[in-house]
Amino acid sequence: MRIDKILSNIGYGSRKEVKKLLKSGAVKVNDRVLKDSKEQVDPYAEIVTVHGDRVEYREFIYLMMNKPPGVLSATEDNHQETVIDILEHEDSVFEPFPVGRLDKDTEGLLLITNDGKLAHQLLSPKKHVPKTYFAVIDGEVTERDIEAFRNGVTLDDGYETKPGELNILKSGLTSDIELTIMEGKFHQVKRMFEAVGKRVVYLKRLSMGSLQLDEELELGEYRELTAEELEQLK
Ligand code: URA
Repeated sequence: MRIDKILSNIGYGSRKEVKKLLKSGAVKVNDRVLKDSKEQVDPYAEIVTVHGDRVEYREFIYLMMNKPPGVLSATEDNHQETVIDILEHEDSVFEPFPVGRLDKDTEGLLLITNDGKLAHQLLSPKKHVPKTYFAVIDGEVTERDIEAFRNGVTLDDGYETKPGELNILKSGLTSDIELTIMEGKFHQVKRMFEAVGKRVVYLKRLSMGSLQLDEELELGEYRELTAEELEQLK
């Protein structure tokens, strides 16, 4: 890979700025000063330094965020804060995007990455990636709802959902539940409960495929996936 591309990709500026940096003699590859911006370097095998600091090259970034309510799952918006606005500096270098959407008022697990292939795998309806949500429901959730979700319910637009697995954690005037679904239709959890005459008053995503929300993350906090989390997800 060209040295100017490597340095530019990881945030050392535009190709033009990187060219200047190289000309200044600040860049070394395996202890050899490298000035030609067209030179090919293997960023994974060779040791690249800038002003003596080792450059860790990587193409992709994978972040797990505990999405706070009131923030859009989008890359940018003219009026409202997005999950990408929350990031500190990762966005300028890697240009990540959220994998799928959570509603503005939904909290919990959101994967943010620039790996389009992984995003596609996780979102493709053909892959049936399970997503588990915790929700508080206005109303008493019963065995009949478990049965209805297991058989699939009809949403307001006539769509028949695939089977969903509903667990009742607490039932009463309001109920706490966990629901696992294999699809990701717009407002799906809220609309599934509407289909059985109930309203979701709080919604949080707990997992997506093998990836579980790290409960240590406060709302609005994020961290990189561990190597193990990433390997299991791929
Ligand atoms: N289902 C919903 O209704 N909302 C979400 O944000 C996610 C799933």
